[in-house]
Amino acid sequence: MAADGETGFDPAVIKRQFPGLAAPDLIYLDNAATAQVPEVVLAAQRAFEIEARGNVHGTPHRRSRAAQAAYDHARAAVARYLGVVPREVVFTYGATSAINIAAGALTELVGPRDRIVVTQLEHHSNLLPWQRLAHHRDVRLEVIPVRPDGRLDLDRLEQILHPDTRLVAITQCSNVTGAETDVARVVAAARAVGAQVLLDGAQGAPHGPVDLPALGVDYYAFSGHKVYGPTGIGVLWGRQEALAALPPFLVGGQMIREVTLQTATFADPPRRFEAGTPPLGGAVGLGAVLDWLGGLDWTAVRAHERNLTRRAIEGLQGLPGVRIVGPTDLDRRGPVVSFVAEGIDSLELCRRLDRDGLALRSGHHCAQPLHDALGVPGTARASFALYNLESDVDALVAGVDRALRDLR
Ligand code: PLP
Repeated sequence: MAADGETGFDPAVIKRQFPGLAAPDLIYLDNAATAQVPEVVLAAQRAFEIEARGNVHGTPHRRSRAAQAAYDHARAAVARYLGVVPREVVFTYGATSAINIAAGALTELVGPRDRIVVTQLEHHSNLLPWQRLAHHRDVRLEVIPVRPDGRLDLDRLEQILHPDTRLVAITQCSNVTGAETDVARVVAAARAVGAQVLLDGAQGAPHGPVDLPALGVDYYAFSGHKVYGPTGIGVLWGRQEALAALPPFLVGGQMIREVTLQTATFADPPRRFEAGTPPLGGAVGLGAVLDWLGGLDWTAVRAHERNLTRRAIEGLQGLPGVRIVGPTDLDRRGPVVSFVAEGIDSLELCRRLDRDGLALRSGHHCAQPLHDALGVPGTARASFALYNLESDVDALVAGVDRALRDLR
């Protein structure tokens, strides 16, 4: 795509801001797993480590104050990206840790009559914490099924939701099929029975600022490394009243009000959920990247990602024996394209593609029940980011074509 005259969005210019993409022999298409980082993140982290490295436990020395200021600044940047207030933003180590913190806290609040609803297409990170909660508390785990096209069957929602449903834990966008959830419909149905909604935004947050008040969910989780930020940092957002009602899950330093040898009382959110020294450098890098992302024209970026998705689907579908696993229409769909090639294992295919510099993910992508439901043991997955070019997609299609000839 050429530079957009009005917005100035040009993926080729954006790509040059990502030092990790400078290697001429790399076409990086594993962005749904981990995206590359722009210079702005590396610069912010370096400045933090040199000028502001210290702890944030309230010590009055200058380095501690600088660290606290940088940490507060990062929390404010996350809040801006999500359209919420900073005190609702909890820093975690990633989406997995965010969902575990929520599930661990909710475990103390649920009991045998209660129900939790998940879906058949969840990443294991938004399934296993709820499985464990269900097991420990004798809670019923209900499942919204997936349709053969890789979209959720939300027509089953009203039938599955029940006055005893406490929470619906659901993805914003599938990391396998790319299907985006109709969140408004889920929220309306959940509200009708008095249930809360936790949205797994790991594959949603990378594709533009999120308007959480408009989405109307109660909790939101995402990872830094998928939004072009550092690894080891993530976010659990919770509506203020929701967080206030939750007990802590991880306990230890920095999250307390008073401690005796026998008892402890806890700080208000978000500190209540941030036991121990937080991943400060990661938070700083995340704040920097979200501010940077917030400055882009997302109408143009989304149109670009959509164009890449359409080009990939059309190109791959044109190859003999290749089938897209997921919706092929672009309505409510993210830039994640999984596919199978008849007679060829996805691991073998991705190994062959790597020889041509094409980085794709193989296997079940931490969504084994989804692959079971769709009747495929694994898929090859190309996932696009704002810096991918049409030529990357063309190289993918040509590479898969070559690989099929070699491997058949
Ligand atoms: N949820 C979804 C939909 C994901 O795609 C992923 C990672 O791929 C996760 C959760 C877990 O993210 P992390 O491994 O960064 O904790």
